Amino acid sequence: MANPGGTGAAAFVPAGAALPDLATAIAGCRGCDLADLDGTRAVFGEGPAGARLALVGEQPGDVEDRRGRPFVGPAGKLLDRGLVEAGIERDQVWVTNAVKHFRFRSDGPGSRRIHVTPDARHVTACRPWLAAELNRIRPAVVVILGATAGQSLVGPSFRVTRMRGRLLDGPPGSGARLVATLHPSAILRTPPDARDEAYAGFVRDLAVAASVLI
Ligand code: SF4
Repeated sequence: MANPGGTGAAAFVPAGAALPDLATAIAGCRGCDLADLDGTRAVFGEGPAGARLALVGEQPGDVEDRRGRPFVGPAGKLLDRGLVEAGIERDQVWVTNAVKHFRFRSDGPGSRRIHVTPDARHVTACRPWLAAELNRIRPAVVVILGATAGQSLVGPSFRVTRMRGRLLDGPPGSGARLVATLHPSAILRTPPDARDEAYAGFVRDLAVAASVLI
């Protein structure tokens, strides 16, 4: 069924559902036009239901879309390394994205699927899924990985360069703190001569989040 523009995910999020039921229900979401992209699927978050730390990225990439799991591609590998160096165990965190469908164009070499940044309307449409996840998990700290996650969790005033690496208040009533940092894919795109420094800053930001858990 066509979905011109979409009306947002709220109508597709089952009220009061537990995480496994949310993960099942998201397959039927038609909340925005990304549901119409051929060959993609909604990629829900994963991790323990009692995670005290949640990581929120932008959207699944090519590998994540194919495998149906968040952060299992090259950016995920860098994230895993950064978590270890910051003293955070990946299997103790909830990992998810602000937008659950992969947005791409396929005019690259060999019809390779090229990442396209989601628009604000996609972030807004998909926010009910993120809110539902975080409401079930109730983490102590949420790490914002890059600008799209920041726009979902903080709003249009979010700027990663200005807000990264310090504890911010989460949404009222959430009890969570927020820590912003770069998206790991931004580090992968950093020129080689500046990449080590970018990565070191990323680990420092993650360590701020880890300090909340002590
Ligand atoms: S991106 Fe989000 S709101 Fe849009 S169809 Fe996918 S799950 Fe639904």
